[in-house]
Amino acid sequence: MLTIPLGRLEREGRLEVRAEIPADDPSWEGTELRFLAPLSVSGRVQWVPSGEVLARLILQGLLAQKCRRCLEPVSVRVEEELDLFFAPVDESAGTDVGSVRPLPEGVGGLDLVEAVREELMLSQSLLALCKPDCKGLCPLCGINLNEDRCECSQEESDPRWDALRALNEKRE
Ligand SMILES: [Zn+2]
Ligand SMILES: [Zn+2]
Repeated sequence: MLTIPLGRLEREGRLEVRAEIPADDPSWEGTELRFLAPLSVSGRVQWVPSGEVLARLILQGLLAQKCRRCLEPVSVRVEEELDLFFAPVDESAGTDVGSVRPLPEGVGGLDLVEAVREELMLSQSLLALCKPDCKGLCPLCGINLNEDRCECSQEESDPRWDALRALNEKRE
């Protein structure tokens, strides 16, 4: 579980975190995150005497994504280090305080899954390519240009057609 018992954390100062979020966990529902294996979360959570909580986590997993150019399935290895900082909500400071997350008051546990999910959705892992030089899909006919060629792209990119056209125009 990724719920940190805050009372125990305050007493002990720091706690080790070691958890796995299953590939079919409801946390991923409604997101673009599709996992091929459980996401491993490890690291430590630290109590700051002024009342804040600092979590340093390492995420490791395998995502099933689609190439952003040609939409073919690709698996993407996730290796992310996260520093999460939680502080009691200060009404006077407003809600927009950058990377500081609100530390819920009056509850026994701090759930880290929400923060992990948010960070993953902002990460580069979602901008996958099947290969660095993927040619993508033809914007006109939709053919996968890694596998096939199509008339539309050929005509547009081949300078010989322009030369031929110019020649025909001269003749007319
Ligand atoms: Zn691709
Ligand atoms: Zn085409």
